[in-house]
Amino acid sequence: MTFEQLGLSADILRAVAEQGYSAPTPIQAQAIPVVLEGRDILAGAQTGTGKTAGFTLPLLHRLAETRHEGGRTVRALILTPTRELAAQVGESVATYGRHLDLRSAVIFGGVKINPQIQQLRRGVDILIATPGRLLDHVSQGTLDLSRVEILVLDEADRMLDMGFIHDIRKVLAQLPARRQNLLFSATFSGEIRALAEGLLDAPVSIEVARRNTAAESVAQRVYRVDRGRKAELLAWLIGSRDWRQVLVFTRTKHGANRLAKYLDKAGLSAAAIHGNKSQGARTRALAGFKKGDIRVLVATDIAARGLDIDQLPHVVNFELPNVAEDYVHRIGRTGRAGREGEALSLVCVDEDRLLRDIEKVLGRRLPAEVLEGYEPDPAIRPEPIQNGRGQRAKGRCGGRAHRAGRSDGKRSSGRPLGTGADKSARSRPAVRDAQGDVDGNTLFTDNGNRDPVMLASGDIKVRRKGGKPAGQSGRRSRRGGAVG
Ligand code: AMP
Repeated sequence: MTFEQLGLSADILRAVAEQGYSAPTPIQAQAIPVVLEGRDILAGAQTGTGKTAGFTLPLLHRLAETRHEGGRTVRALILTPTRELAAQVGESVATYGRHLDLRSAVIFGGVKINPQIQQLRRGVDILIATPGRLLDHVSQGTLDLSRVEILVLDEADRMLDMGFIHDIRKVLAQLPARRQNLLFSATFSGEIRALAEGLLDAPVSIEVARRNTAAESVAQRVYRVDRGRKAELLAWLIGSRDWRQVLVFTRTKHGANRLAKYLDKAGLSAAAIHGNKSQGARTRALAGFKKGDIRVLVATDIAARGLDIDQLPHVVNFELPNVAEDYVHRIGRTGRAGREGEALSLVCVDEDRLLRDIEKVLGRRLPAEVLEGYEPDPAIRPEPIQNGRGQRAKGRCGGRAHRAGRSDGKRSSGRPLGTGADKSARSRPAVRDAQGDVDGNTLFTDNGNRDPVMLASGDIKVRRKGGKPAGQSGRRSRRGGAVG
């Protein structure tokens, strides 16, 4: 299959060729002809599959085919959950549409609204937006959506996760009834299906292989380590293996900040990216990381969602995600477009249940190793996993034990939680903020006694690490302990 066979215009084919794409990806081969026909789509595809070009190329083709009557008004609306994804989709639209007489704009919150108003006034054909700021424009009367012909919901599952369903409904109410709808989602919960049912008209369903089955190019590995020694181990791995570009995931924004600070201090240039950072800081961090000025980007799940960084060789789960599917998204940042990638998870005793959930989703066990000098202390008991602001020191991996001055990684006062309060917290879903990062709420894993994950001893290889970095001597070197 070639792009020429898909029926796209010469101007679009030229832009695609300039990108160096030789053939359409599976999602593109399936979606492009259907979108060109004007039909609705329900597509299961994740970032990294080429989905953006899958909807952008035919969307551009359709808009360029027909003239805009009167002034330019928004004829295509692409909604994304995060600012980063909006910016990236905006770049793709500009790139693929560079030879067409179409104008696009990206609008999201966290930046001044006036330049956006001026841009909208000058006339825009394709608008890429996050829901909140889009509605600000609608309520200020600076945006007319009554002539939208094509609506794209990109990463719809994530938009729902982030609590955007009401905003989405408000946006839908602004659109004309007759339009083409394209819904992209990595997962299909009942909520997504309900949204799709109300939105799509006789959609064509398209599904491409999930990255976790397709991405055999990603080598996945678990390193068992104590919660208080994760940062130290991570710094050692980055330094001794000379990783130049690493994306590291933490569960919380606080954890991301503190880990980035720790790594920076250890001489490994690092930046954190999450929903509490200003847009400018996020853009700078991403640009620095892409350029190679920043060696380690520490991110929360939502902030990292949709990041398109070419040839990312290393992804590290500093903490396992609470939601197993997020693991798949995380490792999808590496091993892209057939390249080799490595995804490491630093797993402490608190995370056995999370690991088991992930392995269920993957349908296989992940190889687990223990690095010499970082052997977990069998005396350390599992503790509840904390995401909350107020309780951040209690049970998070890399948490309090070190700050309390213990050198054995143990808490000084046994297990403090596990009370009735834990149970009620366990039954609550994680609360995500406007950027979708988990914070301000507490979730608990089951502990090893109640619901153990049996890692047969044969599953864990102890690996000699062949020398330690200068100034570190295994267990006694505990600079990393203070980082969560
Ligand atoms: P996406 O899934 O849309 O985030 O795209 C992931 C990456 O794949 C981006 O870096 C695109 O530039 C790249 N890409 C998209 N389509 C193709 C293609 N047909 N061949 C090679 N790379 C592509």
